[in-house]
Amino acid sequence: MSQLVDKPLIMANNMTDTIIKPDMTTPNHTEKSNAEPNGNTAGQSWFNRPIPGIKQQLTAPLTAVETEPSTKCSNCHSMITNTALIFNCYVCPHCDHHLPMSARERLNWLLDQVEGELGQQFTAKDPLRFVDSKPYPQRMIEAQDKTGESEALIVLYGKLRNLDVVTCAFDFRFMGGSMGSVVGDRFVQAAEKALADKVPLVCFAASGGARMQEGLLSLMQMARTAAAIERLRIAGVPYIVVLTNPVYGGVTASLAMLGDIHLAEPKAMIGFAGKRVIEQTVRETLEEPFQRAEFLLEHGVVDEVVHRHQMIDTIYRLLAKLSCMPNVDA
Ligand SMILES: [Zn+2]
Repeated sequence: MSQLVDKPLIMANNMTDTIIKPDMTTPNHTEKSNAEPNGNTAGQSWFNRPIPGIKQQLTAPLTAVETEPSTKCSNCHSMITNTALIFNCYVCPHCDHHLPMSARERLNWLLDQVEGELGQQFTAKDPLRFVDSKPYPQRMIEAQDKTGESEALIVLYGKLRNLDVVTCAFDFRFMGGSMGSVVGDRFVQAAEKALADKVPLVCFAASGGARMQEGLLSLMQMARTAAAIERLRIAGVPYIVVLTNPVYGGVTASLAMLGDIHLAEPKAMIGFAGKRVIEQTVRETLEEPFQRAEFLLEHGVVDEVVHRHQMIDTIYRLLAKLSCMPNVDA
């Protein structure tokens, strides 16, 4: 069907070169070509004129994808309406590719009831007065305008079915989900809330690593978050990490790899340094699926690769088991 509709359009475009040029130089030809089979030439542009010898196609009614706001799958390049995408948890219905979710969407999707948000009082400082191609405060303002969030980590607490839980998620759109001092502050506050209430902590990681604009302050967050997780471990409070695409750098080297259980989304890229840097260091070519979630599962870094459609159920069953709730199969 699409071939039948496209073909005349392509031919019509090709005709612009072949018809217009003679029209400009030969007035007689113009008059002749303006004549319609039924004699009606008034008010009809050259583009809509029937082309002799070519059967006209009726214009097909617009499909939902053409009329509704849509998103292109980055894997199979199919257009999917945003409504269909939300209903399918941002998983492509054509190729099963897991598209990115914003942090707030992800936490609202996970929690059945949101009771509050933590860490909104923290704001980033610019002690180094860092400028690369742009000043750091300008980058922050642009990221805030783009995402509608004040920082790269969102912390919400509430109920997952009948379980109280504290959850946090990185927003990769916010300066690559980089971990600055505010991200560290928010994560530590989430861990302290989980510790005080003796409820599990769940973190969805998606980050490029530490935020270079804050220099040493961002690197300090690795130690701070690791210390907060250690306090959870000593108190026996469960901490589950879900590795989403991508997780790299200082976040991998701290809070994302210190969970009691590490889940990962299919084909998520997870590592410390990027593939190219490692190839240059070890002087070997690293083939797919290097640094993919499935590769890390084979090598014992990840405990389970979970499809997004089963993610909520899996997290709930694991938390219920770790919280020693009866009548739950893990
Ligand atoms: Zn797709």
